[in-house]
Amino acid sequence: MPLAVNLHHLEVHNLRLQGSLPVEDLQIDPRDEVIQLRQPLEYDLEVQKLDDGVLVQGYLRLVLECQCVRCLKPFQYRLELKQWTCHLPLQGEDRVTVTSDCVDLTPYVREDILLEFPRHPLCNPECRGLPGMSVGETANVNGAGQTKLGSPAWAELNKLKL
Ligand SMILES: [Zn+2]
Repeated sequence: MPLAVNLHHLEVHNLRLQGSLPVEDLQIDPRDEVIQLRQPLEYDLEVQKLDDGVLVQGYLRLVLECQCVRCLKPFQYRLELKQWTCHLPLQGEDRVTVTSDCVDLTPYVREDILLEFPRHPLCNPECRGLPGMSVGETANVNGAGQTKLGSPAWAELNKLKL
């Protein structure tokens, strides 16, 4: 378990966990074919011991390879949790599993990252659907070649625009 807190070390001083975790180790199943994971999770966490548990606070970042649900264009979605906080109880019914002095943070990170996944990834909130149609696309400016590519579709879209 690479993303883990060693409670023994934590007794002495607060811990700083910094680095990246291979996305395979995060074991996230996006359950959505428009989202793919290829880049590692970046983390920068501060860990402190509380009376009855452990407090983890910090920064998480995972770049998702998405496909826009409107125009099908691939794009990168930067998922960031800038002030991620996780409380790990060491006592009581909900206490976390400790394996050889270590608590694995991966399941907690995974859970909160998944909650932040975009439901309907869009390359741009303004995306209108097809390349060249969205506001600010350069294809419109000198897109003579572009227009020829999909003439029938363009004719349809022009009708729709009216
Ligand atoms: Zn799009």
